[in-house]
Amino acid sequence: MTTKTILEVKNLCKDYEDDQVLNNISFQVAEGEFTAIMGPSGSGKSTLLYNISGMDRPTSGAVVLCGKEISKLPDGQMSAVRLNQMGFVFQHSHLLKNLSIRDNIVLPGFKAGTQSRERVNQNAAALMKKTGITNIADHDIKKVSGGQLQRAAICRALINNPDILFGDEPTGALNSNTTREVMDIINAINAEGTTVIIVTHDIKVAARASNVIYLIDGNIKDKLELGKFQDDVQTQSLREKRLGEWLESQGF
Ligand code: ADP
Ligand code: MG
Repeated sequence: MTTKTILEVKNLCKDYEDDQVLNNISFQVAEGEFTAIMGPSGSGKSTLLYNISGMDRPTSGAVVLCGKEISKLPDGQMSAVRLNQMGFVFQHSHLLKNLSIRDNIVLPGFKAGTQSRERVNQNAAALMKKTGITNIADHDIKKVSGGQLQRAAICRALINNPDILFGDEPTGALNSNTTREVMDIINAINAEGTTVIIVTHDIKVAARASNVIYLIDGNIKDKLELGKFQDDVQTQSLREKRLGEWLESQGF
């Protein structure tokens, strides 16, 4: 069986003034993979994520999503790609404060307009059930916990059935129990076929990825293949050990 490449990053460079923040980055992601991006603070992880997901534009190089070069698309077309083909989860949920959990989740679905309102509502209900937040659907977002907000942010990110789920430190503001619960959800989404790319500092989070990319000063220093995550305590501790040793050899 041949695996299909869903994302190809080719010779990507990003400069800010005279500062070369990303320096000729190339890598590929196969459909259904879970890639973790690690590296010291300031190494360019967020910049890389923003440039491959169209939140920012590279200075040079190409980003090919599902066979289509997207990095030079006009803003309107790029927004449509982001809305329909990508989902985003950040360290903080960025949900709208004056809307309920449910309304926050359906909003990008209504905005995309590619599915009927009824279908969007059904999707939202299914996602909330899957992530265990059905009971807080009509709650004010000011009244729910950080873990619940992140679950809602995941539902919102998935409402248009994206090809890729991106996360920039999605568990960075969560405690270790909540991190585990949120990562169980992300692993389950990945197991159902959604490609996942997340930036993280957390070895326990990155050990759930199938591949890890290590950045230093805007360069890919090395890559580690861990294989698909299995929900098994023993396997998980071996993955963490292997990743920990590899990271140590990178100077992490
Ligand atoms: P990381 O996510 O790995 O901590 P970032 O991608 O946020 O790193 O930043 C990488 C480098 O790029 C840092 O030196 C940062 O100061 C610089 N940088 C990021 N965004 C900008 C910007 N908008 N303007 C100028 N420099 C920036
Ligand atoms: Mg960052």
